[in-house]
Amino acid sequence: MADCSGATERPALVKDCREALRERIRAEGPLRLDRFMSFVLTDPEYGYYCRCESIGRQGDFITAPEISQMFGELIAMWCADIWLRAGKPEVMQLVELGPGRGTLMADMLGASASVAGFREALRPMLVEVSPRLRAEQRRRLAGHVVHWFESLDEVPLGAAFYIANEFFDALPIRQFVVTKDGLRERSVGIDESGALSFVLGEVGKFPRSRLTASGDAMPEGGVFEDLKAVREIAGEIGARLNIAGGAALLVDYGYTESERDRQGGFDSLQAVRGHNHAGILDAPGESDLSAHVNFSALAQAARESGVLSPPVVSQGEFLKRIGLCERARVLVRSASRERRREIADAVQRLAGAGEMGRLFRVQALIPTDWPMPCGLAANVAEEEG
Ligand code: SAH
Repeated sequence: MADCSGATERPALVKDCREALRERIRAEGPLRLDRFMSFVLTDPEYGYYCRCESIGRQGDFITAPEISQMFGELIAMWCADIWLRAGKPEVMQLVELGPGRGTLMADMLGASASVAGFREALRPMLVEVSPRLRAEQRRRLAGHVVHWFESLDEVPLGAAFYIANEFFDALPIRQFVVTKDGLRERSVGIDESGALSFVLGEVGKFPRSRLTASGDAMPEGGVFEDLKAVREIAGEIGARLNIAGGAALLVDYGYTESERDRQGGFDSLQAVRGHNHAGILDAPGESDLSAHVNFSALAQAARESGVLSPPVVSQGEFLKRIGLCERARVLVRSASRERRREIADAVQRLAGAGEMGRLFRVQALIPTDWPMPCGLAANVAEEEG
């Protein structure tokens, strides 16, 4: 279970996150979901990522780089292949967004040394809001020259690989519920007993038909999610790639708009605590909150900045195409019996259809004048859900 007791490393809070939320709602009225998410996840004093041991076996959830070093190694080789075909630029930034414990960056840097000249060309840069995780990344990456930034706009412009794993799902979203009278925004308020509860706002102005990709109306009760922060950051990455070159690899669980529309919209917000699902309002600031990523909206925002967005592929397909099984076979050769079992288990967890393999998707973004990366779908029909 996450270390959120407030006992050892962190200063004691004057009040808990729930009480701080209640005070804010009493003063300002119901809190929009995006503001609620920002507060409970990244507020410097109360935010989950700033206070809790979130990632890893001891934390609340496990991510792909924490499952196996192969994840970071393969992504480094994906980047190296582009770098070689782009004519080995002398300097390339390696920008990771939301690097968690720093494991993915450490594995990428380790593997990059196996391609002559590649490690020397890389300038590792981390975009991280949480001071607590930044300290963990510093420990994990001791021995490497790394630069930290609080947001992407602060990162100096240059040819870059932008890598993000489970970053976009932590960005704040807004939710609108389709009612018979129109759209109503979901916010967090306080009920008669004083507990935090969801409330629906006034009927909004825009017509239901605008919410689906096809233009058909979303059915009553359907939930529409707006991912403004996701669109903004994807647009920013696209604009940077368009000007300075490079490639982006964005990995997350998510959906396409045609998949969403077939379900009549859905509420993808979820809370996780101690590796189990929890109620969104049960332990604010002490559980991870995330929303599935709308890859259609993400890709569209990047395309509007002038880059190409090849069709999204499943993580399982992507990793197999870029050599997961071959890498596992090499590692197994010199491994003990126990370690062999761990490697086989990691392949299954990363690429198995019932595990991360299908739910997680990979979106690459590339400028028109850079080499087409490997591992992507051969054609659109192949991956369209
Ligand atoms: N990529 C890591 C961690 C994923 S958890 C892994 O795969 O293990 C989400 C990460 O994004 C954390 O490091 C969190 O602190 C960071 N984060 C969340 N919101 C952010 C924001 N708005 N800006 C920068 N980093 C953010």
